[in-house]
Amino acid sequence: MNALESRLQARFGTRLRSAMPLSELTSFRIGGPADLYLTVEDEHELMHAKAASHSAGVPCFCLGAGTNLLVSDRGVRGLVVRLGDGFKKIKIDALNVQAGAAAEFGTLVETVVEQGLEGLEFGEGIPGTVGGGLVMNAGAFGGEIAKVVTLVHGVTEAGEALALTKNDVNFAYRRTDLPRNFIITRVDFELAHGDREGLKARVAELRAKRAARQPRGIPNAGSIFKNPPGNFAGKLLEGAGLKGTRMGGAAFSEQHANFIVNLGGARAAEVRALIEMARNKVKEQSGVWLEPEVRLVGDW
Ligand SMILES: Cc1cc2nc3c(=O)[nH]c(=O)nc-3n(C[C@H](O)[C@H](O)[C@H](O)COP(=O)(O)OP(=O)(O)OC[C@H]3O[C@@H](n4cnc5c(N)ncnc54)[C@H](O)[C@@H]3O)c2cc1C
Repeated sequence: MNALESRLQARFGTRLRSAMPLSELTSFRIGGPADLYLTVEDEHELMHAKAASHSAGVPCFCLGAGTNLLVSDRGVRGLVVRLGDGFKKIKIDALNVQAGAAAEFGTLVETVVEQGLEGLEFGEGIPGTVGGGLVMNAGAFGGEIAKVVTLVHGVTEAGEALALTKNDVNFAYRRTDLPRNFIITRVDFELAHGDREGLKARVAELRAKRAARQPRGIPNAGSIFKNPPGNFAGKLLEGAGLKGTRMGGAAFSEQHANFIVNLGGARAAEVRALIEMARNKVKEQSGVWLEPEVRLVGDW
């Protein structure tokens, strides 16, 4: 680790941070420190950081906007990399859209709708970045990112540039098969022509639906569990009486049972305990073993 720190410091100076608290960088507002933390501004910097961590045998984790993560109280060992403003560009050429992986997914949706391009309206209100959305195959209201992706550009574990086709990525419900430790730098989409006013109306409709269903203004990480085939995690959790169940500073939302909210000072261990308790309770009551959608990250 010290060798990696010296090597990265030689290139990035004080931009390399140590013991960086991750709680401020996640929507849950939970999580311990990253041993090393670096924001890279272009592909060359990213390749350098990846190659250095790979050759030092130190793990490298890519943090998006942290909206689908439960980071452990002990934090993340190794290097945490975040993509900076240099990865936020959105370029439109007819029906083809290129979006930097650090662009906000919501900004992408707004931009393409404004251009009368159809296919990403489902993304209204999904927080996070384009890169995080791709990794999670983010979706809502019957749409998902997989349907409109053409190419995924990124950097491999060893620090080399690589482009993947849609088939390489092997999209499934809230999952993808990317090469190990692959960091996405840009995603290409092919959209369809649509009626701008109609698309705007659809987006407004989805925004209202979301506002009515989800807790607002209280830190959370979106849906805690994936929906099992033919059922809804929220319905199973509510049926098992979990709405409002609290452990320390964390509780299942009163508004939507598939959300855990941080009521103030919640620890990752408390959220994790709620997750395990809920899985067991739902299994007992309905025989279904729920799969977490939120990703548990770090040193547990
Ligand atoms: C209020 C709320 C509502 C939500 N609603 C929805 C919803 O309707 N539908 C839905 O699908 N999700 C939803 N989510 C979950 C979350 O917003 C999505 O999963 C989002 O796409 C995650 O993006 P992110 O940038 O925050 O990724 P992060 O949470 O930072 O990371 C998620 C995973 O992606 C990886 N990752 C991130 N960026 C990159 C990159 N550039 N290269 C490689 N790996 C990367 C991380 O390593 C991690 O494994 C919601 C979350 C919240 C808080």
